[in-house]
Amino acid sequence: MNIVFMGPPGAGKGTQADYIVEQFGIPHISTGDAFRAAMKQGTELGKLAKQYVDAGKLVPDEVTIGIVRDRLQHEDCKQGFLLDGFPRTISQAEALDEIVASMGRRIDHVINLKVDRNNLLARLTGRRICRSCGATYHILFNPPKQEGICDKCGGELYQRSDDTEEKVGTRLDEYITKTAPLLDYYEKQGTLRHVNGEQDIQEVSAEISAILRGQKR
Ligand SMILES: [Zn+2]
Repeated sequence: MNIVFMGPPGAGKGTQADYIVEQFGIPHISTGDAFRAAMKQGTELGKLAKQYVDAGKLVPDEVTIGIVRDRLQHEDCKQGFLLDGFPRTISQAEALDEIVASMGRRIDHVINLKVDRNNLLARLTGRRICRSCGATYHILFNPPKQEGICDKCGGELYQRSDDTEEKVGTRLDEYITKTAPLLDYYEKQGTLRHVNGEQDIQEVSAEISAILRGQKR
């Protein structure tokens, strides 16, 4: 089973990926991990990617595609894989189709985890960190007993600058703009399925599982 997993930051992809990996016994391949592994192993592409990363430049498509291609040849992908963070562009999606076709396979399912933008903002901007001991809280999911004060040490809680509504909003809008064409691509291919990521974690898992098992139209 060859799966592409999509969804904005904060949609809960990591949690659901863990679940799928456990249920279906296929590896979770995030581009970040594949990159780090290739760099660590010092493969040709890994070395090339490292040059771009070290220079603070964007890694070109052909390098990214090459690293994913290499990763999908590994033994553990024989029964399938769950790709996360790739593809991000149409050209990457086309390259992926070619890669899997060359393996005599196809992308079976594209799962798009949907969460409303305002909900994502609330999830992603709610984190608070203690200035004194570094303990983390979330104003919705794990609030301190007293607002703004650390339960453990009484220290002051603050919001990281990356977590502000402005920064998070920009990140979300970039994601939405970038991936819209990709959703169209998979929609036309007939592989795209939307899953409501605002349900309970277990409900989301059950829905994804039903889709992957072909039990849900
Ligand atoms: Zn503290």
